[in-house]
Amino acid sequence: MTRPTRPWQPSAEQMALWPEVSGNTLNGLGETAPRRPTPVYWHAPEATPHGPLQRWFQQRNPGGPLVAQARAERQRVLDTPLAPLAAQAVNRSAAEWTEAVRREALAGGADIVGIALMRPEWVFEGHVATGRYIVMLGVAHDWERMKTAPEEPSVAEVVTQYARGNRAARALASWLRAQGHEAHPHGGPMAGPVTLIPPALACGFGELGKHGSIIHRSLGSSFRLAAVLTDVPLLPDAPDVFGADDFCTRCRVCEDACPPAAIAPDKQRVRGEVRWYVDFDRCLPYFNEHGGCGICVAVCPWSRPGVAPRLLDKLTRRGGPPTEAPQADSAKPS
Ligand code: SF4
Ligand code: SF4
Repeated sequence: MTRPTRPWQPSAEQMALWPEVSGNTLNGLGETAPRRPTPVYWHAPEATPHGPLQRWFQQRNPGGPLVAQARAERQRVLDTPLAPLAAQAVNRSAAEWTEAVRREALAGGADIVGIALMRPEWVFEGHVATGRYIVMLGVAHDWERMKTAPEEPSVAEVVTQYARGNRAARALASWLRAQGHEAHPHGGPMAGPVTLIPPALACGFGELGKHGSIIHRSLGSSFRLAAVLTDVPLLPDAPDVFGADDFCTRCRVCEDACPPAAIAPDKQRVRGEVRWYVDFDRCLPYFNEHGGCGICVAVCPWSRPGVAPRLLDKLTRRGGPPTEAPQADSAKPS
């Protein structure tokens, strides 16, 4: 695989579209008070300062038939209508709904499922999200394809898994609607009103890594997210803090591998919370020019097949996980 070495420079063509405002400012870097996230990328391009860059990314050919095929399949999934809302609503206890929702989510294609009570701070400014609970779905990448990042097989793999996440979310929403209950599917990368990483942290998918993605105790960093919002009564899951955050303080693999040096060695304050943060203004140009990136996800030792359980075992023998870890997202484009 060919990865550009530092210093990496974005093209003049792309930088001509760069807005006055920094994406880091929009993300709330350095802000001391908590607030809802601002839409920065993967929203209606006409409504955001970085919209012209998003259009540039979407219109250019990131290269090759694998990506084109994956994008076509994702569009087919998004164009498939949801099941009609049944007139008669089925009633179940929270425990029964929870069991049924998990079963249906896995049957619909999710690899992992978690549930959280929805919070207002997970909804982007200017957006509305309906649903008391958020059901989070995770779908694992094929690591053999991801390890080629940023080349075409890895870009196609990310799009393929976004399609699978959307398919699983839409299948679960359709099932809930057939039970007579409203449900709203949101799949990446354009997940609409909801930021997906914070609820995924809250529902036990793992801890935020230095690279701005979640580290799951068995899938590592190599997975994508989707979600379903619903009002059926559900039993929320607890966060899973197993030591990944602490591990990141002693590891710098992603930091060293990121061609535009977007991954900071230390945590920073973002909208009132001290946490890992990826420099948006450095990451985005590289991401855009390669049709996607994913290098930081691919090189993370937790992502390598079979490694996560061994690391987990080491952390446990070293004395167990800390009791608390940051729960917010990093708003990088991938
Ligand atoms: S996705 Fe962004 S942060 Fe990660 S390696 Fe690529 S450029 Fe760096
Ligand atoms: S590569 Fe290392 S520092 Fe980066 S997210 Fe993975 S474990 Fe953390």
